[in-house]
Amino acid sequence: MKFILTSELNKLAKKLRFLGFNSTVCRSLSSHITVRLAITEERVLLTRSVKLFKDKRQFKRFLVVDSDPIKQLEAVFKEYKLCSENIFTICPECNHNLHPITVDKIAIELPPKVLANYSEFKVCRNCGHYYWKGTHYDRTIEHAQQMMELYD
Ligand SMILES: [Zn+2]
Repeated sequence: MKFILTSELNKLAKKLRFLGFNSTVCRSLSSHITVRLAITEERVLLTRSVKLFKDKRQFKRFLVVDSDPIKQLEAVFKEYKLCSENIFTICPECNHNLHPITVDKIAIELPPKVLANYSEFKVCRNCGHYYWKGTHYDRTIEHAQQMMELYD
């Protein structure tokens, strides 16, 4: 399942990407462009805009009510019974794929503490960010499991 989010949901987009869901943020203020992207790219539109949510065209959409990104994520997981099987595969910053990279290629750029504690790294070739399975990763996995346990 792929998503398109309006720009007020940028934090939610990062969380969805981290959990492996392709999530574009539409910066355009034009509802016409946003809806057209949702339709042509077969993405579910996530928005807090009631006006956009009530658009007459045929496409999948979900109205995000809460202002807290954690609660927003929980609502989307619950609505679509999402399963985060592809965690750690998409760059949370820019929505491009992550690729494994050997530590010796990036060691000089990493803090010593990270080098001492982690061995598996990934890189986003689009924005250049490095990622490793640190405490944030563990917390996110735990949260995803808790959300999935709430399904019927
Ligand atoms: Zn990136």
